[in-house]
Amino acid sequence: MDDFYKKLQQENLNAKQPLVIESAQGAYLTIAGQKKLNFCSSHYLGFAVEERIKKAAKEAIDKYGLGTGYRTIAGTNVLNTQLEQRLAKFKKAEAAIVVAGGYLANMAAIQTILGKEDVVISDELNHASIIDAIRLAQVKNRFIYKHRDRTDLEEKLKEASVLAKTPKENGENPLILIVTDGVFSMDGDLAPLPEIVKFAKKYGALTMVDDAHGEGVLGEGGRGIVDHFKLHGQVDIEVGTLSKAFSVIGGFITGKKALIDFYKQKARQFIFSSALTVPDTAALIEGVKILEESDAPVKKLWENTKYLKDEFRSLGFDIGNSETPITPVMLGDDEITLKFSQRLLEEGVFASAIRFPLVAKGKARIRVIPSSSQNKEDLDFAVSVFEKVGKELGVI
Ligand SMILES: *Cc1c(COP(=O)(O)O)cnc(C)c1O
Repeated sequence: MDDFYKKLQQENLNAKQPLVIESAQGAYLTIAGQKKLNFCSSHYLGFAVEERIKKAAKEAIDKYGLGTGYRTIAGTNVLNTQLEQRLAKFKKAEAAIVVAGGYLANMAAIQTILGKEDVVISDELNHASIIDAIRLAQVKNRFIYKHRDRTDLEEKLKEASVLAKTPKENGENPLILIVTDGVFSMDGDLAPLPEIVKFAKKYGALTMVDDAHGEGVLGEGGRGIVDHFKLHGQVDIEVGTLSKAFSVIGGFITGKKALIDFYKQKARQFIFSSALTVPDTAALIEGVKILEESDAPVKKLWENTKYLKDEFRSLGFDIGNSETPITPVMLGDDEITLKFSQRLLEEGVFASAIRFPLVAKGKARIRVIPSSSQNKEDLDFAVSVFEKVGKELGVI
């Protein structure tokens, strides 16, 4: 056993340690006692420090305490059902189920309905949690299509529909599921959802979108990618996370009532894992309420995004083909990217260096995620730092 631990220690030597944040995740945060502009957290709407939300969480603790336990055994706290009802209404879906994380929601969404003999068709750049979910479901027939490539998707669908003609052991026809991220988190580009839905109808497939970076960002008042493309009721499974724009924790699935009820009966990630705590749930309910009342935070986010992108472009940075607030500042080289993010941090801007294996070799970049909690001065400060470091390192 000594060897086992020695080997782990060896591997740990080169591991990167996450920075320790000593403050709330607001427009700025504190690292080693110093204030840094926050371009990392994916808290698009500043909800981690929103006063109404903090108050709702505190008041809920006074009334209901903290943990709520296993819903299937200990009963469901009223806040948990309220959150599901609110999310369903917000998303204009029939029903919603909430689990402890977006990762778990993808597991539940796929494992509960797909088995060995079904077929799955997945975008090559889908999130790790979708890849893991497909593995967990032990689906044998997996097709990976080229990123956002409609032609390749249809090719794969043709092959899949041939396979799906052979009945399963139980006599039923295999299901075909097309699954995609809504917003791809490294480049900020969108899934071609209207085409996916069209193909799904043509070939008799189910559709699933993981809207982690679209929730609170895309569509009217942040209702997500399905709302953005006006495809309500046409995507079978919508997965969302409550840890990005909603700034708390948790994941959810929306869809037809029959499907969501089935998940509540069968999803192992729901049955064998505890529900969100009282402050989480109360904070999330308040977050949804804020978005239902006004689209101001979402508008501000897009204003900030446009401003930042225009400024980066006019400085001569390559910022890729993002269609969302995710703004990749493309640098290519791993070493330069690492150096760039270190210099940004020294100058007061916290933005992550994204390198292989998170993106392809030669595609290293700084990923900038602005938030509606930042104002024009904050962004001007950031732009001036990017300009300084960009010139220093010969990037612009
Ligand atoms: C962040 C993310 C997840 C995981 O969500 P958590 O709530 O953090 O577990 C899943 N899918 C995508 C596309 C994500 O970006």
